[in-house]
Amino acid sequence: MLKPDAVENGHIGGILDKITSAGFKIVAMKYTQLSKRDAQAFYAIHKERPFFGELVDFMTRGPIVSAILEKDNAVEDFRALIGATNPADAAEGTIRKLFATSIAENAVHGSDSDENAAIEGAFHFAGREIF
Ligand code: GDP
Repeated sequence: MLKPDAVENGHIGGILDKITSAGFKIVAMKYTQLSKRDAQAFYAIHKERPFFGELVDFMTRGPIVSAILEKDNAVEDFRALIGATNPADAAEGTIRKLFATSIAENAVHGSDSDENAAIEGAFHFAGREIF
């Protein structure tokens, strides 16, 4: 996902350019907005964390771009491309270093395993929307 901060700050094009230039193929994509219920379900794993309410408010405050990306070693390579959760700790040239503003508003989400990528892909897309 390109998160609401990235969309608000005009970074859709810049981030997609970094992603496709790094060799990821876009197999599904949409411009949409999460409801509170969507965001609570998507981030259910974090529901006991102190920032859960803030995370849900942030992720629902404006539109996002969701996508399914394909590449060999995609999960690990995408995590490397986006950089650390906190942009202050992210390596130079990573998407979060370039486009994120804080640990909360960190521009992009990437799945942390192939298993979660499949679950998260199915959360956003119907089978006929995946190419
Ligand atoms: P990620 O896998 O790098 O996205 O990081 P996590 O799974 O640890 O956290 C999920 C998301 O929760 C992050 O991408 C941030 O948007 C948000 N988040 C993480 N830590 C904090 C925090 O301390 N405060 C707030 N408000 N949000 C946070």
